[in-house]
Amino acid sequence: MKIPPNNECPCGSLKKYKKCCKVFHDGVNPKTAEQLMRSRFTAYILNDANYIIKTTHKENQDYTLSTESWKKDITNFSDYTDFIKLEIFETIEGKDESFVKFRATLKQGNLDASFTENSRFLKVNNKWFYVDGTFTE
Ligand SMILES: [Zn+2]
Repeated sequence: MKIPPNNECPCGSLKKYKKCCKVFHDGVNPKTAEQLMRSRFTAYILNDANYIIKTTHKENQDYTLSTESWKKDITNFSDYTDFIKLEIFETIEGKDESFVKFRATLKQGNLDASFTENSRFLKVNNKWFYVDGTFTE
């Protein structure tokens, strides 16, 4: 899947992809946890497993040094999932730890796979990483 640069970014920012998540996919470090959150959602749409892996904190339960099988899991998930919408409800940006509460509207085949999560991010060497999340209502 490709996203044309002038299309609206699928992360819900209402900006063009080229002025939004593409910048981060191309290598710029997100300044905020919310930017990282959005760019990870868009990376799943693009099936960009490398981006997901490089923005995941070591403490995450999926984290492993054997990236081949991890990559396969991400790719399978992306292949089976339609990413319909991302809504961000609340962001608490801290200096080294941030939280982003969001709802991801997803479909897998005919099944609704949507969920609401409060994600935790940590900053390491001036870079944000996704650590984990708790499901909420
Ligand atoms: Zn975006």
